[in-house]
Amino acid sequence: MKSYTDRADLGHFINGQRVIGNGKRTQQVFNPATGEAARTLHLGDASDVDDAVAGAKKAFLRWSSTPPIRRARVMLRFLELMNRHRDELATIITAEHGKVFSDAQGEVSRGIDVIEFACGIPQLLKGDYTEQVSTGIDNWTTRQALGVVAGITPFNFPCMVPCWMFPVAIAAGNSFILKPSERDPSAALFMAGLLQEAGLPDGVFGVVQGDKEVVDALLEHRDVKAISFVGSTPIANYIYATGAKNGKRVQALGGAKNHMVVMPDADIDQAVDALIGAGYGSAGERCMAISVAVLVGDVADKLMPRLAERARALKIGNGMELTSEMGPVVTREALERIESYIAIGVEEGATLVVDGRELKVEGHEDGYFTGGTLFDNVTPDMRIYKEEIFGPVLACVRVRDFGEAVDLINAHEFGNGVACYTRDGNTARELGRRIEVGMVGINVPIPVPMAWHGFGGWKRSLFGDTHAYGEEGVRFYTRQKSIMQRWPESTEKGAEFAMPTAK
Ligand code: NAD
Repeated sequence: MKSYTDRADLGHFINGQRVIGNGKRTQQVFNPATGEAARTLHLGDASDVDDAVAGAKKAFLRWSSTPPIRRARVMLRFLELMNRHRDELATIITAEHGKVFSDAQGEVSRGIDVIEFACGIPQLLKGDYTEQVSTGIDNWTTRQALGVVAGITPFNFPCMVPCWMFPVAIAAGNSFILKPSERDPSAALFMAGLLQEAGLPDGVFGVVQGDKEVVDALLEHRDVKAISFVGSTPIANYIYATGAKNGKRVQALGGAKNHMVVMPDADIDQAVDALIGAGYGSAGERCMAISVAVLVGDVADKLMPRLAERARALKIGNGMELTSEMGPVVTREALERIESYIAIGVEEGATLVVDGRELKVEGHEDGYFTGGTLFDNVTPDMRIYKEEIFGPVLACVRVRDFGEAVDLINAHEFGNGVACYTRDGNTARELGRRIEVGMVGINVPIPVPMAWHGFGGWKRSLFGDTHAYGEEGVRFYTRQKSIMQRWPESTEKGAEFAMPTAK
């Protein structure tokens, strides 16, 4: 297969080689801040998936038998390299995604957290043991790797979301094939290079670039044992149904519409800071972004003027400029979709308090910029309330009391994250107990769980049984085996015909 060296040409990483692959289609990768086509991406096809899976399957034989402590040492070296190259990786992310550099650095840090967690794999794979389950018989359980597993990831975290998957999968003894988002494919290749430098055997980690064609080939390949997906809900649903039908273990994390409840007793300055950061940070392109503020009682009167003032004052520009608080959105199509939702909100009768469509960024006229948009008087029947916009658009819904806030959130089809700003312990406790959402923040606007706790939403924000990373991640990438053993000296004579019981 043809290899490539030109950084403007992006291909796959298969069996330890950077290759162009067999796929005939290409696609441009744009710099969202300028609108320039920066790189050409070679999209893979089913034969590229075959090559990657064959190499991964071969590598699995030795890698899965490598002692966990030695696999952990490779992860430790990878961890060192990720720390050393953190800013280089963040620069790559900003160039293709558009998010501001400090945010890209934060994403790399949160990815590194999971690598640190995966370094503890010998402890995490420890089974349990019972001596003498019956006279002369011992019973223990182990967790063993699945084989070749694959991850399909979204554009919005090109480093962190893959890191939710492959460090745990690889440390547990699997081979891993990553299909990154075609909109920002470089971070995956950069990490592949660091894994190789860390001493990971060829084939254990592969990258196949592409779109639906590659995804479908992974879903259909009989040697792919498990699929982790993160992306929008319709695709998550499709991945879950197709993967499960094909006998694979699947974990598919989907879209979100995260609410932040602001109680009348909340610290208003803190609530405004939280809404501005969590609503407009990363241009609202986070699955844990706050897109709905639920304003309880009279809090709206105090909060709305300050929120509007701050939304108007957002510093928006190229993500590499240190003064920028918010960068562009990822593509022209994303920009058009977001701005069309603003028009829908106006048509539906919501009050448009701040209109981000008016923004112009000097010197970046072709970049994909939209300002922070703020709606008030949004109601649950509106599309801007029900649907995921995935952009810097914050919708404020006014409710009478806490009970109405809980009912509103529980009736939404998504259940990824929720936050509540309050000074009252009982309100906080009741929200945590009653809310049908997977991740809850009390005076914490973006409660993304740490590496050892696991990440996952409820309802149509996650299809599957286990959350990503943490101990749930280890369970997802391994299967339990129970072994029962005795030795001839403690074996009674004669065949037993009754169901064996403890003796
Ligand atoms: P997306 O669903 O468009 O793409 C995700 C992945 O699926 C990409 O790798 C893409 O190539 C692939 N894909 C796209 N269309 C496909 C198709 N028809 N068949 C098979 N594969 C296909 O999502 P995106 O726009 O890259 O990312 C944004 C979405 O991801 C948002 O909905 C966001 O909420 C969600 N997200 C969720 C989480 C979470 O943890 N729940 C985290 C990050 C992002």
